[in-house]
Amino acid sequence: AKQIVLATRPIGVPKFEDFRFEEVNVGSPQKGEVMLQPLYVSVDPYMRGRMSDSKSYVPPFELGQPIVGGIVSTVVESNSDLFKKGDTVHGLLPWATTCIVSEKEISKTFPGISPSYHLGIVGMPGLTAYFGLTDICRPKEGETVVVSGAAGAVGTVVGQIAKIKGCRVVGIAGTQEKVELLRNSFGYDEVINYKTEDVEEMLDKYCPNGIDCYYDNVGGNITDYVIQRFNRYARMALCGQISLYNSTDIPMGPRILPAILKTSSLIKGFIVRDYMDRFPEAINQLSIWVNEGQLNYKETIVEGFDNIPKAFIGLFKGSNEGKMIVKI
Ligand code: NDP
Repeated sequence: AKQIVLATRPIGVPKFEDFRFEEVNVGSPQKGEVMLQPLYVSVDPYMRGRMSDSKSYVPPFELGQPIVGGIVSTVVESNSDLFKKGDTVHGLLPWATTCIVSEKEISKTFPGISPSYHLGIVGMPGLTAYFGLTDICRPKEGETVVVSGAAGAVGTVVGQIAKIKGCRVVGIAGTQEKVELLRNSFGYDEVINYKTEDVEEMLDKYCPNGIDCYYDNVGGNITDYVIQRFNRYARMALCGQISLYNSTDIPMGPRILPAILKTSSLIKGFIVRDYMDRFPEAINQLSIWVNEGQLNYKETIVEGFDNIPKAFIGLFKGSNEGKMIVKI
């Protein structure tokens, strides 16, 4: 089988040379184990953190070891009482064309929902959107919600839930295609192209009543501009800081705390795992919204095992609309 290992720890934006393809012999499953082949491989921005050798909420990947991430697979051989050949399962699994894992590492996909959705809207990014928005931002009807990284896996879900809650929703994204997509397919009231427009000017234009909730996926200047426009008791869900993940020299800060102080606002960071005991509630609600057609969903699908590194690197270039997935 083929596997992809971390060859070197990336400096700045990850490069192809940071990954290495290797041939391995996988053997056959022992008692309680299954042999899997991937159908859909998820690439996610948080994986960049694991490629660096710094302390975080998940340990770093080891050099020379396969990268591990969210994957939907088929069971091709089973020595387990829980899974049979042909089952579709998902779990945190190695980037490999075939692997053997313990039955404890995987779960069956839900019937009635497309398997790849377990990596997106009813998986980690969907849950992240759900909890960050409903538990931290707690948007009320009529409030203005701003979402950065709006056109990605998390942002597309956040905006739609905010619309379900009756809010005015303003997104920030990096291409004109994404701006149109968010307006036309994801219910965003207004969208700012941060690469071609003056973000401050457009925030003033699109948020005439100030900002009550901010769902932050990107950090950096965009976040500084949004915070300056917070209303009294604004709530910010600090979900991601992708604009800083490849920085070798992270600026010290934050410099915008007076704006938080003066408005009695809340900034709260979170990791989706904080909500593990409430995952069933969120999966249930997200599935209902998807099946009722209240939540639209988009995937950018890159084809082929060999293109996994390319898809991953693409996250930092804005190559995806919605969830970035590799179909094997
Ligand atoms: P996305 O699908 O949003 O993909 C990444 C997107 O980020 C790109 O398409 C690009 O869109 C944008 N981007 C890349 N570089 C920059 C930059 N320098 N400045 C601004 N935008 C940039 O990823 P996800 O939806 O999976 O994740 C979104 C965020 O949420 C990430 O920061 C991630 O780490 C975080 N996250 C946090 C979790 C948690 O538990 N707290 C769990 C899951 C995700 P564009 O064209 O608009 O630039």
